[in-house]
Amino acid sequence: MTQAAQAVLAIHGGAGAIARAEASDEVRAAYETALAGILTNAGRILEQGGSALDAVTEAVRLLEECPLFNAGHGAVLTSAATHELDAAIMDGRNLKSGAVAGLKTVRNPVLAARAVMEHSQHVMFVAEGAEAFAQAQGLERVAPDFFSTPLRREQLERVQRAESGQTALDHDTGSNGASGGVPLSLPADRQKDAPLDEDRKLGTVGAVALDAHGNLAAATSTGGMTNKQPGRVGDSPIIGAGCYANNRTCAVSTTGTGEMFIRMVVAHDISARMEYAGASLEEAAHTVVHEKLPQIDGRGGLVAIDAQGNVAMPFNTEGMYRGFIRAGQAPVVAIYA
Ligand code: ASP
Repeated sequence: MTQAAQAVLAIHGGAGAIARAEASDEVRAAYETALAGILTNAGRILEQGGSALDAVTEAVRLLEECPLFNAGHGAVLTSAATHELDAAIMDGRNLKSGAVAGLKTVRNPVLAARAVMEHSQHVMFVAEGAEAFAQAQGLERVAPDFFSTPLRREQLERVQRAESGQTALDHDTGSNGASGGVPLSLPADRQKDAPLDEDRKLGTVGAVALDAHGNLAAATSTGGMTNKQPGRVGDSPIIGAGCYANNRTCAVSTTGTGEMFIRMVVAHDISARMEYAGASLEEAAHTVVHEKLPQIDGRGGLVAIDAQGNVAMPFNTEGMYRGFIRAGQAPVVAIYA
């Protein structure tokens, strides 16, 4: 195997409850096409000998630009009908990392996270300070409603109606953070007792890569959870929870119920199991997603790559938008288990 042949990129576009029966072939194909296109485009960077860092940055930037996924354009709304975007990036060569939380006008939060990593003494900026930093770095800013889509507005209204007890979440074509537009359904008996089913609120994007030079990197970006309280920050921009990369072990990007992913320090736990306990990537990722997270009702999944180019994409929900591409090969994408 040549060095370049080991280069690999994996991405996710969120995990959640996905009703197989309800998703039309057309909708499913739209997601699969988007995932494959993003893998192909960002994968070219690896094929041409570029860095894992550049590949994950570009993959997440493209996912942010795609309105189907909950990050950047197409991000979910807070309870105040605003957007607060979070992102993180980490370089496995040297553990350098950058993160931003609560961005409102920066078009591509992943670029802001990368700028924090490369052009500041710090790891994380939040809210106004993060905006000011991005502005000073010359990053593109947009009007806050750039991130909104009609589907996200409807979704917020539905969730708020359900939370105020006016209606149950209906058995409809509801889009949410999990599905980002894939029709969902809940059985009638769950509708009444689950006015706000956690399964219906997931979604985030992320990428992990190993380049031909043997370097790992990870990046994660999210709008958070629909109807989140302003100021709430989930796992996505927390280094070690939603994002981690270390050349000695692996690169990880997560999606799921952020509070539980923070409490389980998910991304770093996978790395630690490999480093200290000698677990394989597959074992470590499986244990965390299928044994540890369920102990505190943590739902979601992750994509991970180890230093040998093995890929793990476990999730404990019904589905996760995901895929990977090895340099010189065709992308592989999947949604359901
Ligand atoms: N983990 C994200 C958050 O808590 C949301 C998600 O991935 O569904 O903000």
